[in-house]
Amino acid sequence: MKKTTGTDRSITRNWRPATQAVRGGTWRSEHGETSEALFLTSGYTYPDAATPAARFAGDEQGMTYSRLQNPTVAMLEERIALMEGAEACRAQASGMAAMTAALLCQLETGDHVVAARAAFGSCRWLVDNLLPKFGIETTVIDSAVDAEWEKAIRPNTKVFFFETPANPTLDVVDLAYVCGLAKAHGITTVVDNAFATSALQRPMEFGADVVAYSATKLMDGQGRVLAGAVCGTSEWIEEVLLPFQRNTGPNCAPFNAWVVLKGLETLSLRAHRQSENALELGRFIEPRVPRVLHPGLASHPRHELAARQMDAFGPIFAFDVGDRAKAFALLDALELVDISNNIGDARSLMCHPASTTHAGMSAEARAEMGVTEGLLRINVGLEDIADVTEDLDRALSAAGF
Ligand SMILES: *Cc1c(COP(=O)(O)O)cnc(C)c1O
Repeated sequence: MKKTTGTDRSITRNWRPATQAVRGGTWRSEHGETSEALFLTSGYTYPDAATPAARFAGDEQGMTYSRLQNPTVAMLEERIALMEGAEACRAQASGMAAMTAALLCQLETGDHVVAARAAFGSCRWLVDNLLPKFGIETTVIDSAVDAEWEKAIRPNTKVFFFETPANPTLDVVDLAYVCGLAKAHGITTVVDNAFATSALQRPMEFGADVVAYSATKLMDGQGRVLAGAVCGTSEWIEEVLLPFQRNTGPNCAPFNAWVVLKGLETLSLRAHRQSENALELGRFIEPRVPRVLHPGLASHPRHELAARQMDAFGPIFAFDVGDRAKAFALLDALELVDISNNIGDARSLMCHPASTTHAGMSAEARAEMGVTEGLLRINVGLEDIADVTEDLDRALSAAGF
């Protein structure tokens, strides 16, 4: 059998990212299929009684049960790890399964977590509601102010948890500074890299310990399945994540893993083209509305930092039109862009975070993190950007801009 199918790390780790995205982790069956096989199976059979005994004892590699390992899911995990520059990765059922596992697997009663206040609504829910229920203390800070991180550290601080750029206000965290500070204090950083993906930003290059994903977004990229992933060192994955994951079962379904594998082949192309489209649209909108929040625009307070730590600025940005009535008028005037709260899709999608993705949190928490009543978030897709721009031009006019 040809050695370079994508499973031999001594070969694949030397491949450049575009090659890893197409071939990394590919594992061929005896049929030699070109596209990765979809193993829709929960269990496995054995040639004799000694084989499962050896596998369960850890003396022999091999499949035993799909909550523990599945060939299609394993291919996705290896490909994500290679693209991330991580030693290991485990796929999850969704982005929230990934965030929950990445936090709960390593935290216990009495620990303290410092988290960014600007975050995906459910990530904030974990910090504000779930962790405190188990006696884990949390402090929420303005992640874009470096000094706040150090100020929040306590003797029992175990984890820093943040997104960059953050959903939906596009706050940018200084990865090198915050990861370095964490290392100096023995704190584990958990970075939610869903907005950028490894195609645009690799937090481990800046010292991040754990990188967690919603693969539902840019990795799938065509709005089809829910999936997630957690990346870390082999030791952390084996000793910290896997005991939690194997026994609680937030696993990615093989079909979903297969869809995301196909998505990864084109991730870099899509992420770069969508970033170009988003920047062009952001520049068009900026003179028309009170405020645009886009790390690629010079008006973003951390534009230079974003340019240093990202290869491109991603497909998502936000802008403020003043109040809910104007935001709804603009959404209702769209002809091409869909009203939808998903992101990372090849389609341009727009939503009003205060009444959708961030509706579950208190008005005070929304105000504190900058999710105003006039804020709109857009995911810029792969359509011809001239068509998207014309649609926004018309919708802005209809809303009085
Ligand atoms: C969507 C999203 C999540 C949650 O992912 P799901 O796949 O929907 O569970 C977490 N973090 C960020 C930044 C997201 O955009």
